[in-house]
Amino acid sequence: MSLGIKVVKGMKDILPDEMPAWYFVEQQLKSLALGYGYQEIRMPILEQTELFKRAIGEVTDIVEKEMYTFEDKGGDWLTLRPESTAQSVRLVIENSLIRNQSQRVWYMGPMFRRENPQKGRYRQFHQFGVEAFGLPGPDVDVEQILMMARLWRALGLHDKIVLKLNSLGTLQERLTYREALIQFYQSCKDLDEDSTRRLHTNPMRILDSKNPKMIEINQRAPLLIDFLGKESMLHFEEIQQHLSKLEVAFEVDPRIVRGLDYYTHIVYEWVTTHLGAQGTVCAGGRYNDLVSLMGGQATPSVGFALGIERLIMLLQDNNLIPVKPAVDIYVVAEGEAALSKALLLSEIIRSKLPFVKVLMNCGQGSFKSQFKRADKSGALYALILGDNEIQTNTVSIKALRGEMPQMTTTIEQTLAFLQEHIKQ
Ligand code: ATP
Ligand code: MG
Repeated sequence: MSLGIKVVKGMKDILPDEMPAWYFVEQQLKSLALGYGYQEIRMPILEQTELFKRAIGEVTDIVEKEMYTFEDKGGDWLTLRPESTAQSVRLVIENSLIRNQSQRVWYMGPMFRRENPQKGRYRQFHQFGVEAFGLPGPDVDVEQILMMARLWRALGLHDKIVLKLNSLGTLQERLTYREALIQFYQSCKDLDEDSTRRLHTNPMRILDSKNPKMIEINQRAPLLIDFLGKESMLHFEEIQQHLSKLEVAFEVDPRIVRGLDYYTHIVYEWVTTHLGAQGTVCAGGRYNDLVSLMGGQATPSVGFALGIERLIMLLQDNNLIPVKPAVDIYVVAEGEAALSKALLLSEIIRSKLPFVKVLMNCGQGSFKSQFKRADKSGALYALILGDNEIQTNTVSIKALRGEMPQMTTTIEQTLAFLQEHIKQ
């Protein structure tokens, strides 16, 4: 571009030829959530900064480094949402949706995190997520895992994604663990800068570090699972038993801690080895203390979020996105009289056969150039209106893919032909 103005670093335009993949995935996700009785919510992209600071935790990568935060002209501090669990909690409290009742909701939309852009990691990306409020589990925890297992099967990804589970227990259990963790890290010399700073503020975050040196040290760190009490273990075991009975494969991975502070009990990640370093496609868990932390009545809650870009990439890499033409028929017209007739014919088709996608040649041009455009459009058939057709009040149909002799028909016959040959 001559002005040198480009899309913001780490953000992406979604171009027309990428849209079929998005429609396909969005449609699958929407009917999945509705099929489990979850209801959609739509939330603003901006929230008060304080919401995320409180809910996600001050000493987390997201809040410390990744949020797009600014002071607006009225002096309010606002943040582009980095995730939607915190705002779902705000929404259900503010609108009294969880007063003496449970609630199951889903959302889909853009999120913003200023991280290092790389394959599968962007500064604006999209998530689909579900949250269930007011249900202590483990039935609903299992239901949400089943929901994803169903999606992987429906998309043909079931042998490419594995479920990794862990339990973070209760807040109280984590406090005891915290002390053990601090002691351990104090005995290590080579902590990096982030970890040294977090040692006394939020030592569990060190476990989530992506620094290779810290990953190695973390291998030797004490495990939270060894600090869980009886009840937490029971909750965790019940989930595992359900999953085994339902034949959902999983691995217990005691090193999963998740990058947000609000989790309690079960946490999990659906991971693939097919996307390189950005292998986590979907992640979630239980967050029993978050609603009360945000000022609502204590409400057990559980949810997950899925990264749509990563899912689409995985589907594309495995050729699992059904190819559908963006256009079914292309209307070609030569001459003034034909042009006005072509506009009318296109309208008739759209009215009578609303499932047919009709692209009208606008901008005129010779038959030759119009057929070039018709071919490029991906349409299956061209409908032709030239001098002949105008004189005899007919339409010619030409196949653009495959063999079929060109034929000349009445408008009624054309409609019948399209009804028969275009897939709904
Ligand atoms: P990661 O460990 O990859 O940074 P995360 O733990 O920060 O992920 P969550 O906050 O749990 O991720 O978000 C849920 C899902 O959203 C992730 O599993 C991933 O698929 C997707 N996701 C998160 N951050 C990004 C990003 N920057 N770009 C694209 N997708 C993302
Ligand atoms: Mg992250």
